[in-house]
Amino acid sequence: MWLEFSLHLLSYWGAVWIFDRAAKETAAVWMSLYNQFTITLPLMYLFDDTYSYTVDSFPLTAAKMAGVFILSNVLFYSTHRLLHTRILYPIHSIHHRYRDPIGVCALYAHPIEHLFANNLCFVLPIVVCRLNYYWMLLILCLSSFNIVWAHARVESNVAHRLHHLLYTVNYGFFGLVDRLLSSHTDSLTESVRTKAKHNQAM
Ligand SMILES: [Zn+2]
Ligand SMILES: [Zn+2]
Repeated sequence: MWLEFSLHLLSYWGAVWIFDRAAKETAAVWMSLYNQFTITLPLMYLFDDTYSYTVDSFPLTAAKMAGVFILSNVLFYSTHRLLHTRILYPIHSIHHRYRDPIGVCALYAHPIEHLFANNLCFVLPIVVCRLNYYWMLLILCLSSFNIVWAHARVESNVAHRLHHLLYTVNYGFFGLVDRLLSSHTDSLTESVRTKAKHNQAM
């Protein structure tokens, strides 16, 4: 548990240090720490004995990684879309407080959202697919880094920052499910600009 949690902290706050040098957002720093210590850490304790230590062949590992990637994508997309429904949006609106976020705003979210969207959508596929513990650590580090990068003010990421601006596009990550369900966009076209203005006026 402590190894997982330390690697998560290191990846998340390392990414914040890399991407957020020019900006500070104290409220997001405290909310990130709150969610990490009150939700992520207890969850890591609960799932401590559930990981597989079996060393799989390379093809089986690749198949399991693909399974985790697809399942977590579908789960996260579905959860995120549910969070945009009228009933659940009051919870998600906290994360949407930032229309132009910085990296550390990644975990600025209601604890319920943090539990289901940011944690269980990734932990459950790993457990279900019986992914080896050390591959799980790799995914944990990459996803902790990735969530900060997705919110950071850098030119290499567009998709999730457009979600914060427009609300109704790019619900998933890496565009996998969004492309299938036509909710993907990666540029501010004229129609998208109009939609952004409309949302701003609401
Ligand atoms: Zn976000
Ligand atoms: Zn959203």
